[in-house]
Amino acid sequence: MTHLFIADLHLNDQQPEIYYRFKEFLDNKARNSRALYILGDLFEYYLGDDAMEGVIKQVSKDLKELSSQHNVECFFMPGNRDFLLSSGFAEKAAITLLKDPTCIQLDEKKVILTHADELCTDDGEYQKVRLQLRDPKWQQWFLSQSIPERIEFAKQARIKSQQHTQSASNEIMDVNNLAVKNLFLKHQTPFMLHGHTHRPSFHTHKINNISHQRMVLGDWHYQTSYIEYKNNNFQLVTC
Ligand code: MN
Repeated sequence: MTHLFIADLHLNDQQPEIYYRFKEFLDNKARNSRALYILGDLFEYYLGDDAMEGVIKQVSKDLKELSSQHNVECFFMPGNRDFLLSSGFAEKAAITLLKDPTCIQLDEKKVILTHADELCTDDGEYQKVRLQLRDPKWQQWFLSQSIPERIEFAKQARIKSQQHTQSASNEIMDVNNLAVKNLFLKHQTPFMLHGHTHRPSFHTHKINNISHQRMVLGDWHYQTSYIEYKNNNFQLVTC
């Protein structure tokens, strides 16, 4: 049976075409699989379970339909955009939330799943922001703000992030090789699958003379991109 992996759709109400591609994927490919793993940044921004509307509300219904009517198990690991997504959405959408990182078993393979923003350790400025945003105290403060205040905050954060992305070099925005190696060694398995970098590809890392495979998902801005696991094999599909 097929297991599907996706990440970085960055769904938002301003770009309905991405949602239509996702819906088509759910109605065809996903429906005929055993499990769907969403490895973060499903949404461009997520302001709290009490602020679910538009595409977020729609997707919660779509995911629920996938499990209740088509028996597809759905797992979600929040990314750096939708890190505030929690039990409220999970209950509505009938999905299982995953911690970052999480290891799963596919046949005899143990696979590390991560969004991978934590592996971009060369980007010191981003890592500082990340620490703040993932701090439960900060999150509590943020969620206590009114929804219009949260929207305004997200807008400002997005402008800052775009400025940073434009000024930082390509290497800095990718995963750091040592961080990758450490994660492989920590979990003692040669398989890792992640998103975040928007650089879809399969990479081989030689660690202690053993080949380790790092599989990177693509974003959905202009394409449908997923990794499919079936018949003991991983395949990266972009269409
Ligand atoms: Mn990301």
